[in-house]
Amino acid sequence: MIKLEIAANSGFCFGVKRAIQIVQETIRQNSKVATLGPIIHNPQMVNYLKNRGLCVLDNINEITDETIIIRSHGITSYEYKKLLEKEVNIVDATCPFVKKAQKYAQKLTQEGYHLFILGEKNHPEVKALLSYVDDSATVIANPEETIKITGKRKFGLIAQTTQSEDKFERLAINLLKECEELNIIKTICNATLLRQKSTMDLAKKVDIMIVIGGKNSANTNRLAEIAKSKGCKTFHIETSNEIKKQWFDDVSKVGITAGASTPKWIIDDVKKELEKLN
Ligand code: SF4
Repeated sequence: MIKLEIAANSGFCFGVKRAIQIVQETIRQNSKVATLGPIIHNPQMVNYLKNRGLCVLDNINEITDETIIIRSHGITSYEYKKLLEKEVNIVDATCPFVKKAQKYAQKLTQEGYHLFILGEKNHPEVKALLSYVDDSATVIANPEETIKITGKRKFGLIAQTTQSEDKFERLAINLLKECEELNIIKTICNATLLRQKSTMDLAKKVDIMIVIGGKNSANTNRLAEIAKSKGCKTFHIETSNEIKKQWFDDVSKVGITAGASTPKWIIDDVKKELEKLN
């Protein structure tokens, strides 16, 4: 008999719920609605919204007369400027915690700190953060990376909102060796911290972990990394179709967790499929 346990904190966070509600409300009130890039990093939820009238544009030049919703992880200041020039109707669904990180990035830079951002340089949230400081910050993905900054001895540190606390602390220690002053602002959001902690706790108690969420979702990937780092066999899936029976040979306890952009209906469906294994 396989016992299933769902992480205490998993699935939609405040920022994602808010962004989805904004999309649904905007679709109700406007005939042509689009986002620049996906509103959240969950392909199934994005498809669900597309089926209800949302259009996803890859490029600002594709915009004609749509109402444009700014996605939860924000857009660059250059893109925002272009949107204003196009004089389209703009609805901002950027998560307030992402906005806060953008403000802190500007504040530290204006105060003369060389800014470091713990994050993935190609993630839209990080690209947006960089744009608000005129690309003057250094993005670091590996906290043990060698720091090569000449001149400035005052460093500032923030993180992409979905980074892990452990990596953030390790980067802070690494930076401290290279500067006279380090101003740290912990911009990892609480929803991320709670999901990471629940995943960590659950991974210690089970034989395998199933992590549900977009393969393009930074916070879901992080949950999978955390579960693996606890020595737990981990499978990252987007939907129940990816479940393989052979994963569960000799397994008695299965942990389930889901990223902040994973809808409840996908989590419920995976749980239902796993229950069938009994
Ligand atoms: S993970 Fe955090 S920062 Fe990202 S949308 Fe959710 S609440 Fe906002």
